[in-house]
Amino acid sequence: MNDLQTRALVTGGSGGIGAAICRRLAAAGHFVYIHANRGIDAARGTADDINAGGGRAEAIQFDVTDAASTRAAAEAILQSGPVQILVNNAGIHDDAVFPGMSPQQWHGVIDVSVNGFYNVTQPLVLPMIRTRWGRIINISSVSALTGNRGQVNYAAAKGALNAATRALSLEVASRGITVNAIAPGIIATAMAEPAFDAATIAALVPMKRAGSPQEVAALAGFLASREAGYITGQVISINGGMI
Ligand code: NDP
Repeated sequence: MNDLQTRALVTGGSGGIGAAICRRLAAAGHFVYIHANRGIDAARGTADDINAGGGRAEAIQFDVTDAASTRAAAEAILQSGPVQILVNNAGIHDDAVFPGMSPQQWHGVIDVSVNGFYNVTQPLVLPMIRTRWGRIINISSVSALTGNRGQVNYAAAKGALNAATRALSLEVASRGITVNAIAPGIIATAMAEPAFDAATIAALVPMKRAGSPQEVAALAGFLASREAGYITGQVISINGGMI
């Protein structure tokens, strides 16, 4: 099988990091499902760009916290074949110091990252196993490794994703499937830009700059490649030296 026959799904492909990963995977010759929740226009725009440039992509829409609609979307995708590259990138943060953290803030963040991971990955994994080749990449965060004030919910959600990465990697290792997490630091997207000014970034990041979505996408592209076939069960940091 060559890369041109490989189908990829990137959740949160409408966002900053997700769009960069979609472009990277398309440039490597994969067919890419660009997923969105509310931002379907952004996902369609990226799909149009990729298709105009000779790649192949299609925008799709569902809420990863909605188990029934996510399963229906996965089943629709599987009608035309297995997904062999899955990037679980959809994520939100909703920060508050813990004494003031509402139940909605706690459950909302966990729901997207942890239940979203289950809802998307579970229906896709057996068809992937049957092909004896696959890549699952979960977008985590430095926050899960260091903690961050105001992000007990987010750190818990991403820490759970890291643990799920490790456990699932053991289940599928003998089937030619790798499962890894990427833990970015501060990346210049709509999610991070309101939270970090230049002075804060200079104080927190030894490289004195935010990372770019393209730098995260380069790592995801490598982990999705055939060359990365012996890397599994890892949480790989990309953070300008923060830890
Ligand atoms: P964006 O806010 O740009 O993108 C977030 C994406 O998640 C969007 O595509 C959004 O879809 C999707 N999403 C949110 N909620 C849902 C939902 N319920 N169902 C389906 N999709 C959903 O953020 P980034 O690109 O910066 O973040 C991407 C990932 O990287 C996240 O997991 C984030 O936690 C992680 N990360 C980001 C860092 C940063 O500094 N930017 C640092 C560390 C980790 P839509 O807009 O269509 O609703």
